[in-house]
Amino acid sequence: ATPAATMVGSTIAATNGVLFKGGDVLERVRDVDAVVFDKTGTLTHGEMELTDVVAFADGRPVGDGDPSATPDGGVAVDPDVDREPSPDHAVSDPETRLLRAAATAESGSEHPLGEAIVAGARDRGIEVDDPEGFENVPGHGVRAGTPAGEVLVGNRALLRENGIDPDPAEETMERLEREGKTAMLVARVSPRDGDAADDEAGELLGVVATADTVRESARETVSELRERGIAVSMLTGDNERTARAVAERVGIDPDRVRAEVLPEDKADAVEAIQADGSRAAMVGDGVNDAPALTTAYVGIAIGSGTDVAIEAADVTLMRDDPRDVLKALRVSEATIAKVR
Ligand code: ADP
Ligand code: MG
Repeated sequence: ATPAATMVGSTIAATNGVLFKGGDVLERVRDVDAVVFDKTGTLTHGEMELTDVVAFADGRPVGDGDPSATPDGGVAVDPDVDREPSPDHAVSDPETRLLRAAATAESGSEHPLGEAIVAGARDRGIEVDDPEGFENVPGHGVRAGTPAGEVLVGNRALLRENGIDPDPAEETMERLEREGKTAMLVARVSPRDGDAADDEAGELLGVVATADTVRESARETVSELRERGIAVSMLTGDNERTARAVAERVGIDPDRVRAEVLPEDKADAVEAIQADGSRAAMVGDGVNDAPALTTAYVGIAIGSGTDVAIEAADVTLMRDDPRDVLKALRVSEATIAKVR
């Protein structure tokens, strides 16, 4: 494109909330033949809400006697809770203890999942203490000292790495994941107090789950991209079952879902997609996504994303609307067409 056409194209796009980092980017976008979406915060709102709290004792869900409990002992909580603590949102004792421990451990976390757990606990009138020795385990969860002991909150791998068996919670985890929720395990790590008789690595305390909502325009965007012959896939650190539930909702093929991808492996996943010579646009919002945005033929950051993502990207969508990916494609095509 001529510099003039490029400038006009960029300006038109900018007034529509699509920012290109330079004219060469504007030209590159039209050659994109694959789009890779990050799940959380991109296809979904990324605003997690705590939905389920299932306390365990002796490797089994407890709370069977509770009339408000779901069949396996979980207390179903309306995700549309207001932010005022109220008796309606109160949880019974084992759940209170579980949620308090989880929220305390997560109060040092900046991860949306951690923030949802803390907010969910506060909503239910639960006091959240400051953790001791907080440790973030990227792509896995957190570990921190709480009044209930040294606590882990995270995925199956986090527990296994700490020698704690997540299997007793498998049924509960799978049920929640099929609902498209992110289920997290909560466990207490046994203190190393020299008590030789006690060789257990720790104890499973329960499961908490959060739900995110799919952005309204995600489905329509995916279908329009596919109509244009663009291969659409999804990349996420979240587990396979949750990822597939979300993919189904937005119309992405199950075999184009790459789940449980560690933050440091996201760029490799994009490279794998591009291995057949396809030119991928990676659309993401998080700190985790920066290397993947750089690796992709075109990196697209979605508006409310982190500064790191925006810096790594070639295109920034100022609004939180996946549909603007289509707008970027159209502007690029129109600009190039003008000089033909
Ligand atoms: P995403 O790619 O969806 O942003 P991450 O790579 O950050 O996900 O995390 C992957 C998984 O690790 C999460 O789905 C969750 O199971 C676990 N996890 C990460 N951070 C936390 C946290 N602060 N608390 C609990 N679990 C976490
Ligand atoms: Mg993310």
